[in-house]
Amino acid sequence: SYFHELGLADPILRALDSKGYDTPTPIQRDAIPALLQGRDLLGIAQTGTGKTAAFSLPSLHHLAKESKGRTHKGVRMLVLSPTRELAAQIAENIREYARFLNLSVNCIFGGVPIFQQKKKLVPGTDVLVATPGRLLDLIEQRAVTLENVEIFVLDEADQMMDLGFIVPLKRIASMLPKNRQSLFFSATMPKAIAELGARFLNNPVRVEV
Ligand code: AMP
Repeated sequence: SYFHELGLADPILRALDSKGYDTPTPIQRDAIPALLQGRDLLGIAQTGTGKTAAFSLPSLHHLAKESKGRTHKGVRMLVLSPTRELAAQIAENIREYARFLNLSVNCIFGGVPIFQQKKKLVPGTDVLVATPGRLLDLIEQRAVTLENVEIFVLDEADQMMDLGFIVPLKRIASMLPKNRQSLFFSATMPKAIAELGARFLNNPVRVEV
């Protein structure tokens, strides 16, 4: 099958075209139709499988459809990532997939001065990719609110747990609106991760690659 058979909006197909992608990877083929229907997703997949596009493309499709005439109400899609390198890479990919859409994409992580990131967030941001600790700091300083999040993506859940992010993660999740779409990815699915996923997800489609 091809990307243009999946029902993604035209600007997204054009962005894929400009990257030279025509065929979805297995996780994209399985996840994109379910996500376009608004389902939650439990994805068991490693980096390199194309999971970033699998969660980004249908999310951008949704944000593009529902953005006409919308006044800026803050973050609509939140992606949590365990490390700054992964966060930066995800944000870079999303920017490329969103290049023909009128959406702002920001990335925040620890280890750099917080005031610079606060400045970046002032004009408003549609898509925010973040590491958990820095996100909480910015929420406490009222630079970010999560009350308008429509799509929540938790990437690399097993690494999150290994790096001790479970407490901040649960705090962040407690601030999200109940009515949202949630996506949860992990390379491995031991019992503790499955239980964590169950807290965030509502009747998810399970995709394993
Ligand atoms: P990821 O697993 O999301 O880190 O993606 C791994 C790499 O595959 C990245 O460099 C992507 O840009 C690339 N990629 C993702 N989807 C496709 C696709 N359908 N066709 C070709 N390359 C892709």
